Order: sequence, then structure tokens, then C-alpha cells
Amino acid sequence: MVELETGGFENLICSYVITGKHPILVESGPTSSVPRLLAGLHELDIPFEDVQYVAVTHVHLDHAGGAGTLIKSLPNAEVIVHPRGAPHLIDPERLWASSQSVLGFISEIFGKPEPVPKERLIPMTEGTFNLWDGAKLDVRETVGHASHNLSFYESFNGGIFPGDAAGTYLQAFDVIVPTTPPPFHLDAALASLDKLINLNPTVLYFSHFGKATDAIQRLRDHKVQLQLWADIAIDGVRKNQSLEQIRDRIITGDKVMNSIIGFVRSHRIYSKTMLENCVLGFIEYAKTIDK
Ligand SMILES: [Zn+2]
Repeated sequence: MVELETGGFENLICSYVITGKHPILVESGPTSSVPRLLAGLHELDIPFEDVQYVAVTHVHLDHAGGAGTLIKSLPNAEVIVHPRGAPHLIDPERLWASSQSVLGFISEIFGKPEPVPKERLIPMTEGTFNLWDGAKLDVRETVGHASHNLSFYESFNGGIFPGDAAGTYLQAFDVIVPTTPPPFHLDAALASLDKLINLNPTVLYFSHFGKATDAIQRLRDHKVQLQLWADIAIDGVRKNQSLEQIRDRIITGDKVMNSIIGFVRSHRIYSKTMLENCVLGFIEYAKTIDK
């Protein structure tokens, strides 16, 4: 794991390196932390020309915004991405504009993405890459958080890199919180979690943030948590409640959220993403099912 220290924030975003004859990076991270990621590779004694793939879970700025900048320094690397995400890596202008309007100051912390040349992309939804000694990296489509989220399963440790398909892991509290900005699709997210559970994983490597054990139990608990937030949002929308009212009901109703609320409120980024964008994702979803 390479801690990217994006914008000076610790425990926010990380990349992973699967070492071996042809190292694979999981997540480029945002543009602003590419120098930190390259320094991490250097510290791990991985020559830049050895890196074969940069596997990005989805094209949001915090996961893949730096891909174009990164591969300028990795001459032999190709970028694995979902076909629906590929156009945004080739031409990131629209993604940058929408990120600025949704994320505001946070998009500036991540930095503007540079394009990835089309010939260096490997668009795929499902597939397998052979690593070493029979170890494999499986690609699985796990949509919900985004319509183009991929998860990667490595058979060596039985570990999954879910991107944002399994929530945000707050290591200091050992809890998971939904990451569900609009457009969020609950049914797809639950089906994706089932898909991950069926891989029988032992560990989860969160991009936000770090390694968690007891993978299957955590994935099951996260399904229950998503359904709880959805039930509150659906009821709140029916009662014409505001985002603030629905958010407060979630904080009261979800014991995980309740236990970390002081930390979340005081966090410059999480106070916006978890308490505004993620709640809004459920509200927009609730509005679609009430029609
Ligand atoms: Zn993310």
C-alpha cells in the first residue's frame, strides 16, 4: 500500500502495488498525488519501466484522476478500466467540469486530470490476468456507487480491491460508511456486494482506506447498512423531509454513523462527502422509486 497523503490528508486515499515480475498498480489516485505514488514505487525498489498495468476501479478523480499523469512516468504500463469509464480517461474535460460542480473545493485538492492515450487503455468488465506462480487477478464488474466500478480479486491472499463498491473504511474506528453520491443505484450496489461475497474473500483492500480483515462479514454488514439508509431516505422523501432532517435520522438510526459523527463533522472532506453527497445519493434514489 502506498499512502498518497493527498492534499496533506492522511488515511484518505491510497494506491496498492501487486509486486512480482510485472507489477500491477491498483488505483492511480488523483493527479495531485502522482509524485507521492512515484516516490512510493521508488521506495519499494520497483523500476518504473517494470510496471505492466495500472488497474483503476473507476474514473472518479480520487481513484483515476492521476492516470494520465502517472503513465507518462511508466512507459510500459497499460490502464485497465471499465468500458463506460474509458471515454472519460481519454477526454477528461466533462468529468473535470462535473467534479468541480459536485465536489467544489475538493476537486481542486485532487487536481485536474490529464488525458490517457486511447492505445494505452484496456477496457474490460470481467476477466483474469495471470500473475505469478499460478496467482491470478480477477476483474469483476461491481456497479452501484458508479455505473462503471470494477473490483479486483487477487487469489494469492484472497483479497479484494473494491474501489468504492464496499463503502469507505475508517481504519481508526474499524467501521465502514456508505459512499453513495448521486447517481446511486441501491439494487446494483447490493447485487455487487453479493458478487464480492461469492468470491469468498478474506481481506478487503480499501482505496479509502487500508486493509480490513473479516471481509465476508463486513460485506454482509454493509448490505444491511445500505438498506437501512435507503429505508430512512424513502420514508423521509415520502414525508417531504429535507436533506438535513433525513441526514439527522440516519445519524440517529445507524449506530456506526452515530459512533463516529464527531470525527466526521470535524473532517474537512468527510463532512461534505459523507454528510451531504452520500445522503443526497439515497434521497435521489428514493425519489426514483416513489414514482
Ligand atoms: Zn472514492
